[in-house]
Amino acid sequence: MKWQGRRGSRNIEDRRRSGSARVGGVGGIGAVVLLLAGWYFGVDVSGFVADGNGGGGAQGGEITAQDERAGEFVSVTLADTEEVWADVFRAQVGQAYTPPTLVLFKGSTQSACGGASAATGPFYCPPEKKAFLDTSFFTTLEQRMGAGGDFAAAYVVAHEIAHHVQNELGILGQANQIRAQVDEARSNAISVRIELQADCFSGIWAKSVQAKFGSLERGDIAEAMNAAKQIGDDTLQRNAGQRVQPHTFTHGTSEQRQRWFARGYQSGMIADCDTFSANQL
Ligand SMILES: [Zn+2]
Repeated sequence: MKWQGRRGSRNIEDRRRSGSARVGGVGGIGAVVLLLAGWYFGVDVSGFVADGNGGGGAQGGEITAQDERAGEFVSVTLADTEEVWADVFRAQVGQAYTPPTLVLFKGSTQSACGGASAATGPFYCPPEKKAFLDTSFFTTLEQRMGAGGDFAAAYVVAHEIAHHVQNELGILGQANQIRAQVDEARSNAISVRIELQADCFSGIWAKSVQAKFGSLERGDIAEAMNAAKQIGDDTLQRNAGQRVQPHTFTHGTSEQRQRWFARGYQSGMIADCDTFSANQL
């Protein structure tokens, strides 16, 4: 992906230098109401890391040149999502797109959806409309999960922003309300539909970003497809030495994740990413 020297986003909240001193302000009755409404849960918490043991820097540690570079990369990728989704919303939804804030942290930090650390992996917190990312996750992605390449990292950013898109469209709120009322297996099944739609939206992003900026390079789509494969629930469970248990899936199989990303990439249309009315995922 061509990203160096390109415009970055203003919607980055960089907490990497301030350490992890921030404490979440949500508590008491407000938190209970949010919990009952199914809103309090972050999307993707631990979703990317099956064994819950992603490496990561010490909290408030020194910012390395690699951290700086990763921060710039995320900023450009985020700016791309802002432009692309503004266009797509204008053309396909008929409303303005309000972008989220992306919080960069190192080690650990707090969110309204709970504590974040390198082990939780990147996630999106709906009530705050913020995505959280420890840039050391990119190293985990490459070295421990076998998903290297800059476009694999871009896909992860695009996937989290796709959850914000779902939030803006009202999809996340509806789906989470239903999830709060059903048993765990059904809740997981709805989660899979949320996640596969986010993958499909990531595909729309990839297609649109290429059309608008011509910033994709040879092998980029293959990197995203490989990442989608490596973070499929069946592959994560297998790689963690666990038995593959479909009723515990929350993100979909490798095959499903790849197929829905590819579908969005080929079509570019939100309407073609309706995982909720798909008979077969
Ligand atoms: Zn997700």
